[in-house]
Amino acid sequence: MPMSPEFKERLSKIVQEAVEAFGSPFHIYDETGIIQTCRALNNAFAPIEGFKEYFAVKGLPNPTVMALLKAQGFGFDCSSVPEIALARKIGSNADDIMFTSNNTTREQLKAAMDNGGSIINLDDISLIEKLPAVPDLLCFRYNPGAARQGNDIIGKPEEAKYGLTREQIFSAYEQAISLGVKRFGLHTMMASNELNFQYMIDTADMLLALIEDVSRSLDIRFEFINIGGGLGIPYTPNAEPFNLEGMAGGIIRSFEKFKAKNGWVPKLYMESARYITGPHGVLVTSVINHKNTYRNYVGVDASMSALMRPGMYGAYHHIHIHDKPESAPLKTVDVVGALCENNDKFSIQRQLPETQHGDILIIHDTGAHGHAMGFNYNGQLRPKELLLKTDGSIELIRRAETMADYFTTLDFEPRTITPGQN
Ligand SMILES: *Cc1c(COP(=O)(O)O)cnc(C)c1O
Repeated sequence: MPMSPEFKERLSKIVQEAVEAFGSPFHIYDETGIIQTCRALNNAFAPIEGFKEYFAVKGLPNPTVMALLKAQGFGFDCSSVPEIALARKIGSNADDIMFTSNNTTREQLKAAMDNGGSIINLDDISLIEKLPAVPDLLCFRYNPGAARQGNDIIGKPEEAKYGLTREQIFSAYEQAISLGVKRFGLHTMMASNELNFQYMIDTADMLLALIEDVSRSLDIRFEFINIGGGLGIPYTPNAEPFNLEGMAGGIIRSFEKFKAKNGWVPKLYMESARYITGPHGVLVTSVINHKNTYRNYVGVDASMSALMRPGMYGAYHHIHIHDKPESAPLKTVDVVGALCENNDKFSIQRQLPETQHGDILIIHDTGAHGHAMGFNYNGQLRPKELLLKTDGSIELIRRAETMADYFTTLDFEPRTITPGQN
């Protein structure tokens, strides 16, 4: 089931006033729900010493929300230098930042190691020689290839651009040892929006088996394994929630077995985004038009620049209309934005209660990979972000883009070159 009944209840009390005070559209995040999920995750994995979640910044790169997560003990998984800058801005230090990039440059590696540093997670064996210095701790990203089935969304590991092969993994750690690296981690990211918890246990088992082999053959120990993110959330009304207890139980057993067999055990790191904040955010948008042609359209004041998932992946986001009685007559409609792209639709042929001009639509589960995927195509400006706080107040945590923002990159020193004459 999308969006918790508690959040729905909290939101329904304040959404009208929020629209009046701040203007629609906006994404609004629920501090209470986010903190509950953080605590549930930390509790579930508490038996594993040194468990730590590195929230994948790309899901919700807002420093106010990131500060909340940091207060719950989370670190941050960053894949670009600006994401590292965000994590540092809220006071994260080297151990709190995992730099998981791919197709990486020397300059990016240097930026990740300078100014306090971060945990370097290399996506390829060829990147070892691009390191500006020898880090104390080094991690590699593993891609099991044909040894593992991918999941529907992320695709087959063999076809994925990420990670090192099994053979390369052995030689990568060997090279790292000879360079003088002292501490080691192993990472993988196998799934996206995966609701089958057994898949996550299998991923942890896969990494544990691999570090067992590598540590035997190279006589090293691993400080951590990072099983990536990809825990799913129920976007559709019939989907079951992810079984966090089931996942944690299985992984805890695997860690116990590993310890009994090897006499030592790594720490467990994870880097989910969707699971942490996804269900705790919604896009609030107002009805501005009705158009009845070959289909019935409900035009709203947000467009896919505020939420790209439906247009990009055909993803389902549940929608309800604020303050509509259950008994309101239903109508089959497409809910559309203003972009000149026919996939600018938040839902297609959805049964929704009949709407009036000014009705407020709540588009569920936009707390991760929502605002962050926004763009400016067609002169669309990204909406604001609000936080519904535990004390009931509503805080603006990012303003909407303005025309001035749209024009900022046109403000530059004029420059023309004539090729051949430089
Ligand atoms: C996107 C991403 C994540 C987070 O994915 P979710 O599906 O939101 O959990 C974690 N790690 C890496 C490397 C990613 O690219």
